[in-house]
Amino acid sequence: MKVAFFSSKSYDKEYFNLHNQEGKHDLTFFEVSLNPDTIELTNGYEAICVFVNDKVDAQAIERLSENGVKIIALRCAGYNNIDLKAAHEKDIKVVRVPAYSPEAVAEHAVALIMTLNRKIHKAFNRVREGNFSIEKLTGFNLYKKTVGVIGTGKIGIAFCNIMLGFGCKIIAYDPYEADGLKEKGIQYTSLDELLEKSDIISLHCPLTPKTQHLLNNEAFTKMKEGVMIINTSRGALIKTSDAIEALKKRKIGYLGVDVYEEEEKLFFRDLSEYLIQDEILLRLIGFPNVLITAHQGFLTQEALTQISTTTLNNITSFEKG
Ligand code: NAD
Repeated sequence: MKVAFFSSKSYDKEYFNLHNQEGKHDLTFFEVSLNPDTIELTNGYEAICVFVNDKVDAQAIERLSENGVKIIALRCAGYNNIDLKAAHEKDIKVVRVPAYSPEAVAEHAVALIMTLNRKIHKAFNRVREGNFSIEKLTGFNLYKKTVGVIGTGKIGIAFCNIMLGFGCKIIAYDPYEADGLKEKGIQYTSLDELLEKSDIISLHCPLTPKTQHLLNNEAFTKMKEGVMIINTSRGALIKTSDAIEALKKRKIGYLGVDVYEEEEKLFFRDLSEYLIQDEILLRLIGFPNVLITAHQGFLTQEALTQISTTTLNNITSFEKG
């Protein structure tokens, strides 16, 4: 099938070419996002492959239908960027990758914890300059620390399993309790109890109107002095301006984030071309006990393999009817 592929990421091209066995699909890579200026590129293609930052609204669906597109293959789980009703009306099928390596994101959360706690980033910067001083690099043992997990879905469970291996006590908050966690010694608590008792809090719930700014001033007040907070879920789960105040007061001892509020505002732009201009985010980066990565939690070989094979299989299944 002729597929118009929208991505500026070199890893997408690499993994999709690798798994497009025997050139089954005729992939054309357009190194741009799908938007009103680029939509004409889809003319003559039966399939398009897009990501969550490609906005496919009713107007776009109209154009895609005129151009002969029959299937939209999303290489992500979320589909809030697609007008599903409009696609259905135009008989355009929408397929996605429901799950890809929850371990990838869970392990990234652990990487943030370990790096912040043992100050690996600071130590490495010193050693690079020939400075082998270990002053002010004291960390803490994870063994027997209380870890609060907010959201025990696919990623939250993978995270719990790793942290159990460190000998941590794990408490969790989720409106729906996952099977099998209590048997491993994980206790579900109220959100307040989790905030009060945790040495480390890791966010693994989705962003919804209910969870937006879940960690705000009121929540920070309830936490232990010097708490570590990790967010690999969605930026707006934390109210960044309140987090800055809590960092200043040293209420938050460590903050590790792979996602940030500004990202949501820019979600429909190409993030690879994104240079930070947001004043709040720049202020956050200025704290020595804050670690920020560029939404790369999912970025492992295994997850990329899962994303590319599932997407190509989705297109094949559609072709076969
Ligand atoms: P999931 O749907 O399997 O699990 C989400 C869990 O959150 C569910 O158990 C749900 O009941 C729970 N939840 C819902 N509302 C809640 C609330 N108010 N309080 C506490 N828990 C609540 O999702 P997942 O695959 O585990 O993904 C979790 C999040 O990780 C996603 O929403 C996404 O934002 C993020 N994510 C990040 C990356 C990355 O690269 N950093 C990659 C993939 C996913």
